[in-house]
Amino acid sequence: MPIALTNATFISRDGASMRTGTIVVREDPAGDLEFVDRAPKGAKVIDCAGRIVTPAFAIAHHHIYSALARGMPAPPIAPKNFVEILELIWWRLDKALDLDMVRACAHAVAIDALKSGVSVIIDHHASPNAAQGSLHTIAGALDEVGVGHLLCYELSDRDGESSRDAGLQETDNYLTNHQGLVGLHASFTVSDSLLKSAIDLAHTHDTGLHIHVAEDQADQDHCLENYDCRVIERLRAAGALESSKTILAHCIHLDNNEREIIAGSSAWLSQQSESNQNNAVGALDARAFPDKVMIGTDGMHSDALGAARTAYMMAQREEGGMSPQEAHNRLRSVHRYLKTNQFAGASDNDLVVLNYNPPTPITTDNWPAHMMYGLSRAHVESVIARGKLVLDHGRCALVDEDKLLAGCQREAMRLWEKL
Ligand SMILES: [Zn+2]
Repeated sequence: MPIALTNATFISRDGASMRTGTIVVREDPAGDLEFVDRAPKGAKVIDCAGRIVTPAFAIAHHHIYSALARGMPAPPIAPKNFVEILELIWWRLDKALDLDMVRACAHAVAIDALKSGVSVIIDHHASPNAAQGSLHTIAGALDEVGVGHLLCYELSDRDGESSRDAGLQETDNYLTNHQGLVGLHASFTVSDSLLKSAIDLAHTHDTGLHIHVAEDQADQDHCLENYDCRVIERLRAAGALESSKTILAHCIHLDNNEREIIAGSSAWLSQQSESNQNNAVGALDARAFPDKVMIGTDGMHSDALGAARTAYMMAQREEGGMSPQEAHNRLRSVHRYLKTNQFAGASDNDLVVLNYNPPTPITTDNWPAHMMYGLSRAHVESVIARGKLVLDHGRCALVDEDKLLAGCQREAMRLWEKL
């Protein structure tokens, strides 16, 4: 059934055009939207009463597997640096996950994403003791709630050969009949042979890599010590920067040569300012490649708009200033990445209805400023994904969210007991 959004104030993805009227969308993974004079017969009519309708948001780098970590018991000893944060918190957590917990994580994130106006998630997953079937499990749960996805499994040598091989197998199986990426943890836990296997696998499935890069200085120190070069130099030499589907997450500790290499490569970047502050690892300076940067959340939450606002605030000091328009472009660039690479999930029939009634006028010129200074996930009323109503006045439309969240709580208790 088509959906007709009547009395809508539509603002385009780039913010450059604004018009009022009736919008019709149809259920179609690659569908578009059309303006009509009146709602077609048989359409589900949603009266927007003048509310803003704009393309839904997307997250360029998430860790769904960390969704049940919120409020979990503290690690046995307090981590003193970034590598200890990984060892004492995240690598203990990911090893404890089984598929039921992974499914619960995906349900929790999907619900939170829709309530943040997010309709597509690019995820980076790790569950070393439950690798087999993990990506299918996540995809199934996101599909159920109505969230689009581009998934990958985090390949690494950190847990030994059998764990590495299970990750490669899961990636290969999943990519055989799903769109996705080949995930790698980070240079400092990826051997040359695994890097080569990952690049070969990406070629086989005509896709790109998704890897953490220089999130902390430790990644660079390890690379210099073991490979006698810097991380981006190592990746370039291996042929890891050649695909426009490749995503480099973080890229904080780079030198000027590495920045130039990235600027001249096909790869994209994702920025996760809140996570960077949480881990005290530094901040991104993207002045050398402003058009390649997308906004991620790194598992902290599923609020792309909130993450873009933090990036905007950080840029005032870390990147020599940034305009609301530039921040808005950064928030929206993930759709450029998805579209350029012909990934499903970037369709024009993914929309968010915002119940936002500001004290100042909205124009195409100042819409980015409203996004950075006024708008928040609290204003998200409804979400349409691939032409289907998936969030209806703040409630998930395809699933019983209370029941799913109760299940998440049970799985969280089980996970915390294991920890
Ligand atoms: Zn990450």
